[in-house]
Parts: sequence; C-alpha cells; structure tokens
Amino acid sequence: MSAGAGLPILQKSELFGRLARGHAAGLTVVTPNQRLAAALARDFDSHQAACGLTAWESADVLPLSALVERLYEDALYSELATQLPVLLSGAQEQALWEEVIGGSEAGRDLLSIASAAALAREAWQLAHGWKLMPRLKSYPANDDARAFADWARRYEGITRRDRHADRARGPEVVAPHLAHAATRKPKTLIAYGFDILTAQQREFLAALGAAGTEVLACGPDERASAPRRVALASGKDEIHAAARWARARLEANPRSRIGVVVPDLSKSRSAVRRIFAQTMEPGRALPGGEKRPLPFNISLGDPLASYPLVAAAFHALELARGEIEFSRASRFIRSPFIAGAESEMANRARLDAELRKVSRAAIRLERLRRAIAKLTGPEGRAPQCPILSRRLADLAKFATENLTALKRPAEWGRHVSALLDSVGFPGERKLDSSEYQTLKKFHEAIAGLAALDRVAGRMRFADACAHLARIAADTLFQPEAPEVPIQVLGVLESAAMEFDHLWVMGLTDDAWPIPARPNPFIPVALQRAAGVPESSAAASLELDRRITQGWLKAAGEVVLSYPLREEDRELVSSPLIRDVPETRLEDLALPGYDSLRVAIRRARGEEREADSRAPAIPKNAPSSGGTSVFGDQAACPFRAFVLHRLDAEGLEVPPPGLDARDRGTLLHALLAKVWTELKSKARLEALSARDLDALLAAAADAAIGRLRWSRPDALEGRFAKLEKERLVQLGRAWLEFEKRRPAFEIAEIEKKRAVSFGGVTVNAKLDRMDRLQGGAHAILDYKTGKANVGGWLGARPDEPQLPLYAVTRDGNAGDEVAAVAFARVRAGEMEFKGIAREAGLIPDVGTLAEQRSAAAKQYGSWDDLLSSWRRELEALGREFASGEARVDPKDKRNLATCRYCEVKPFCRIYERYGAPVDGDAGSGEPE
Ligand code: SF4
Repeated sequence: MSAGAGLPILQKSELFGRLARGHAAGLTVVTPNQRLAAALARDFDSHQAACGLTAWESADVLPLSALVERLYEDALYSELATQLPVLLSGAQEQALWEEVIGGSEAGRDLLSIASAAALAREAWQLAHGWKLMPRLKSYPANDDARAFADWARRYEGITRRDRHADRARGPEVVAPHLAHAATRKPKTLIAYGFDILTAQQREFLAALGAAGTEVLACGPDERASAPRRVALASGKDEIHAAARWARARLEANPRSRIGVVVPDLSKSRSAVRRIFAQTMEPGRALPGGEKRPLPFNISLGDPLASYPLVAAAFHALELARGEIEFSRASRFIRSPFIAGAESEMANRARLDAELRKVSRAAIRLERLRRAIAKLTGPEGRAPQCPILSRRLADLAKFATENLTALKRPAEWGRHVSALLDSVGFPGERKLDSSEYQTLKKFHEAIAGLAALDRVAGRMRFADACAHLARIAADTLFQPEAPEVPIQVLGVLESAAMEFDHLWVMGLTDDAWPIPARPNPFIPVALQRAAGVPESSAAASLELDRRITQGWLKAAGEVVLSYPLREEDRELVSSPLIRDVPETRLEDLALPGYDSLRVAIRRARGEEREADSRAPAIPKNAPSSGGTSVFGDQAACPFRAFVLHRLDAEGLEVPPPGLDARDRGTLLHALLAKVWTELKSKARLEALSARDLDALLAAAADAAIGRLRWSRPDALEGRFAKLEKERLVQLGRAWLEFEKRRPAFEIAEIEKKRAVSFGGVTVNAKLDRMDRLQGGAHAILDYKTGKANVGGWLGARPDEPQLPLYAVTRDGNAGDEVAAVAFARVRAGEMEFKGIAREAGLIPDVGTLAEQRSAAAKQYGSWDDLLSSWRRELEALGREFASGEARVDPKDKRNLATCRYCEVKPFCRIYERYGAPVDGDAGSGEPE
C-alpha cells in the first residue's frame, strides 16, 4: 500500500498465510473496488491449490463500501435498528436530489434537472469522502457552489427529517455503533491496494481500530520487468496491436493472466470489444456457429438500458406513452422479445419493409395500428401478423385504461410489469443465460422504480418512465460469465492488480497524466486544501505518477503504448513514460492473425464458376419496375437482375415529412390534373387569373389527397395547407413559363402502355406528350431536381427513359416526335432542357448541333439519334432478357455508379474492388 496512512504493513505472502488459517483467524480484507476483491480472492485460491490443497475456507475479501453495508445490516437487524436511518438506494438519492433542485430558485433556469442532480450527487459524495461539508461556508463560492450549498442544506434537512441517509454517509452512520456486539467486526482488517485513502476512509479505519480491530495495510508483490514503450499510428492500431499481443500471450500459455488498460475505456469500449472479438475468434459473427465465451472481459459493463432485451421493453413503454421515432417502433416490431416474434418473424420483417414506405419519421401507436391494418388487409401489400396486431391492440387498451392520472411509483412499477405482459415480453423463445440475467436485472430496475415511493410522491406515467430509464442507464451491468484470462480495464481498476502480462494503451502527453478536474460545485481552493487528487494539476500528476509506477511493477511483461496521431493532430508520448525504453512493434514479435475475410479467402479451395448469367426470361414476359429496367441494365446488369428479376429492394427510412420523391409525386399529380383540364396553350392564355388560381387550388387538393392515400402520415394539418400553397405557387410560376412557348396542344398525359425492346416488355407511363405547331410531337418529362441531357447519349445511357418514350411514339401513325425535353419545375430555376429536330420548337431546347455535350457529336442527324436510341434499347433489352447479370458498374471511377445503389449487399462490390466496406473509394480495378 503506497498511502499507508500510518498503518502497519503486512507482506502479501504473510497475508495469504493468515488467510489460510480460515475464518477462525477473524481476518477480513477490504479493497477499493469489487474487481480487485475478486482478483485477490482468485489469487488466494490459486495459491492454496498450488500448495496442494483440495479444500479450504474461502477468504473474506470485499470492497470497503461493502464492509460498511455489511456492518450497517448487522446493526439494522439488532436492537440498534431504532437508532439507524434508512440507507437510500442510488435511484432514491437521485430522485430526492431532483426534487430538491427542481424546487429551488437556481433549478428553475436549468436545462436538465436530472443532469444537475447527478452532478450534485457526485459533489455530495466527494464532500463527505473528504470531509468538506463543515468547511464549505468558509471558502469564497461562485454561483454554482452557492447553489450546491443551498441544495445540500435542503437535501440534508429532508433526509434528517425522514430519517434517511445515503451511501456517502454510510461510514458516519455505522462508526458510532462499532463498539456494539451486534456489529460483527473482524479481528484483523487488511486494507489491500489503496493508493489513496480519503479522509472519511481514514476515520472509519481509525474507528474500527478504536473498537478493537487490528488494522493493517497490504499491497501487491512487486515484479521485476523490463517495460517497453511502443508507438502506433493511431488509437485503432493500438487496439488491434494489443488484441494480437493478448491472443499471442494466451496461446503461448493459456493459464496466463493478461491485463489491458485502456484509459478512455468508456469512450472506446465498443471498438475494443469488436476488435478483440474479431481477433480472438474471427468467425464468431457467422450465423449458426456455437457461441463460446470469449477469453476476455471488459470491466464495468454496459448500461442496462443498452441491452436489446431492455431496449425492447422501453420501446413498448414509449409506444404506449405517445409518439415514438419510427426507427424505434420498427425495432419493436422486429424484436425477438415480444409475443409471436419467432412464429411471425419473416412476416414481421416484410411488414416492417412496407411500413417504412408509408410512415413518417415519428409515429403513434394508433397510427401504427391503422397502418398495419391497412397493409395487412385484403388490399394490403404486407403479409398478416395476427399475433402482433392482437398484442398492439392489447397494448393500446392497456394504455387507455391504465396510464392516466397521477400514481405512486410502486403503482407504476406494477403497471410497467403488466404493460410488458400485454405485449408478451420477453417473447416466446427460451432466453439464453445472458438474456435471463439481463431480465432479472431489469426486474430489479422496476423494483427500484417502485422503491421511489419512499422519497417521491405521485407522478405521471411519463415521469415514471423517465425514472426507470435513468435507473437502467445508471446501472452498469455485465452478465456473469466463466472466469477469463484477459481483463480489459480502466485506469482506476487497474491499480494494485497483478498480471503475467500487462499492456497499457493511450499514454499520450495530453491524456496522461489526466488533467485536473475539480468538481464544479465545491470551491476549488477547498478541494485543493483537502488534497482531493483531481482538484489540481500537481495532485493529479502525483497520483498518476504512482499509478504508472504501479503498472511497471504489476507484471513480468509490461508494454506501454501511445498513438502518434488522432485525426489531424500529432501526438507524443506522456512525459510519465518517456524514461521507458522505446521499441518497435515488430520487436514484440506478434503473429499476424487473419481477419475472417482473409481467413475465408485463404482457406478456399478454388473452384471458379462463372455466375454472371441468370436463366433467360421467356420472350416478352412482362418485367417489373417499368422503364427503369433499361436504366438499371445500362448502369449495371447485376443491379437490374437483383431489382427486376429477384424483386429485391432496399429498406426505406421514413423521412420527417415529405422527401424529394413525395414532392415530385405531388408536382406530377398537380400538373397532370391542370393540363387535363386546360388541354392547350390557347386555353391557358384564355383563362382569367382567378379561374387559373381556382384550377390550381383544386389540382393541389387532389394531388395532396392522392399522396395521403398512399402515405397517410406524410401531410397533416397546417403542414398540408403550407404544401398546398407551395404547390399552387410553383404551378402558377410554371404555367407562366409555359406561356413563352409557341402554340401547343396536349396529346397525352400520364398515359400507360406496354412497350417492348429486345424481348423485354415493361409498362411505361409518359408524363406528357404535346402536339406542336405543324403536327409533330414533343415528349416531356417533369423534373424537380437535376436534369442532364448527357444521360441520354452514348452507350449504356444513364437515363434512357425519355429516349424510350421518343422511339416508342415516333413512327406510330401521326405520332412523329420532333423534340424530347426535361421540363424542370423548380422555384427560381424553371427551364426546358432537351434536344429538338429543329430550332424554335421549344424555348432553349436546341438541335443536336447546338448541344454542348461532346457525346452529341456522334449523331449525324435527328433520325440518326432516334435509330441509335432504338438500337441501344434493343441491346439493353436483349441483354436483360438473356439473363446477363454480370457485376459491371458503368462508372468504375470511384465506383460512382454504386454510390447510391441499394443492392450493394448482394454484389459485395467493395470486396471485389478492394475498397473498404465503409464506402471509401476503391482502386477501380478488381482484385
Ligand atoms: S453496387 Fe455497383 S456493382 Fe453492385 S449492383 Fe449496384 S451498381 Fe452494380
């Protein structure tokens, strides 16, 4: 023990000797935390086994805080009970602080009472740990410190009135009763591995000494090692290197104790878990394999709320309460933890895919039920999910009948359980061990909510849910697993731990020593005067220097690492490790472990099979997807195959309100309606402004009504009114623009017909065809976004739809086509863009010779252009019909064709082109 506080020191070997005498020796060992207590108990067991023993009494090793609670309970179940206050749970403390802060003057201006309450709890614990409360008033205070002093006074008053206390005051509650026979004090108490004793801990140990307990200090054995310092390119590389190192050491000796210390573990926890899991067992993510426990354990655990089982419970509570993000409702529908999840799994997945097309970004239970009823009804596109529908109905009924009015927390606790029953939580499949433990922990969280009765009054259901969510967020939980050889730890938990091999990462000059972080609610001068370690740079440096020295002696092999770069910042090693000899990563002689991808490739027995051709389709059999078949075939044959032969589609993400596609749909519907009425430019010009406005208003109403039918949630209330105004304005501006054209009549609007090219028949719907002066026709396509004429030209045209309409209509009796154009309807950017047989047919639509695109020069005449389009479409059709499905994106530079392609998971393009899976550009050449 470094900070022995004047306690006599006991060697570790002697400690084990005394522990070996068993309970009769009356020896208890206390540690700063649970992890060290468990490690020490394990060490002792190994020591006993190494001595050849087969049975022995287990050692009494526990954290100091647990000893205080044990002594408190001794007193509580004795005649002392009437003199003792009740110890509040963490959730009860939090609720009481929230009440105190919420009712204070300073609390009125706070954005988050809950966060302020959590900080105040920390300050309260610190103030008691370091005995600062009596001196709070004698130090000059800023606004925060004054507010805290006021809250602390009220909190203290309420707890005194109600005869409550908290864990921060546990030692003071217990100390006066230590002399009483009811408290089972050990004969000897060993304080093991304390780098620092707070003033409160010192007093408590002194009180135990005064009550007759012999108090000694002990610490880990020091080991001789030749520590090495190594620099890695980045933090991610450090984790990879540490994982490889740990696996190598484990393979060399499966019984070794391996420690990996990660100073910012709370931030990098998920990256550490992923990389360690991939390194230790690359094939773990594959479905169907047996899930063996991984050989490492990451300390502290995750918030209970982050476990999928608990998340599903919260999704049910949120659905019952009001509006919920669609992404959460979607996860609830697909969750394995509700009734019918197994039997309706596939149907629910398909229902979810359909719901995404009609829902908004947020949804209420009633709307969700209506949408499900419609989608799974006789005319719906989704399969039926009767269990889900029934459970959602039960949930709605339960919410209506039970979730109103103010109730006490215990009542809400019962309602939460009943509500979860109504949706069949936790599902129909048998829970595995981890899930079962998580469920048990969640039940404890619900019990924690009910226990708020002691400190909180009646509340609304939403407040009860917020309390439960906080309890689940504050509960760090890790399902129990068999003992594992690799421990991944934060800095504080690493103190006094012993290993055979230890790697400490992240030791840069700005991360280590940890910068001073005085508590904002307590005057800094007071914290410094009391010696609080994190209150000043000097105290923090001193503590971290001691911890560093501890690491150097904690294992036979010690590696200290730091990253050279974080984003665009260059980093250097911490001054606390600069004396440690630097080595190169190669000198650690780490084996290279293949990633799963490489391992699979390496293991392949090569058997090449050309798989770029699907069965041909029967001649002229209709294909799904309309004219986009040709565009997709041109972009990439495999994309066309997946979308139009396999009928696969990407999952949509419901937008908040209208997205670009909805706006396009509305505009198309508006203009279709208007021109169906007007029929010609002459009629447009003859219409009075008032009549035109009335026509536009009626058309906008019809367009909105049509969209509502398919997406009932997209336009609501005032939003619909605003959208109507926008549509009318846009329509009016466009019609003004069209008045610049020479006379024309409408020949066709949104007319559907089947068209065939190269043996592929699809349904085509042309936006509009106008009859121009002289009898020829113009094919028009409305666009609200970008319009690129170049997309019609050359081989494999990007946008062959308009060419397709042009060549389909041209040549029909009396249907000579003389112009093809995008009608770009966009506020402030109205224009026609296209190609015409001759000048002057449509404003700004030039002839082939007038096109700026170099690709246009390859066509000698208008007829040549039409023939070329026909040939290109025939070729694309033949290719598609023949089953040609090679993975061949048209633009391979940076895989531009693939950027927004929704079928990437099918073609695994980034594996073929050697680009990373996160979408960075590839080399452009297949591997
Ligand atoms: S991602 Fe690229 S290669 Fe894959 S199907 Fe889509 S366009 Fe083709």
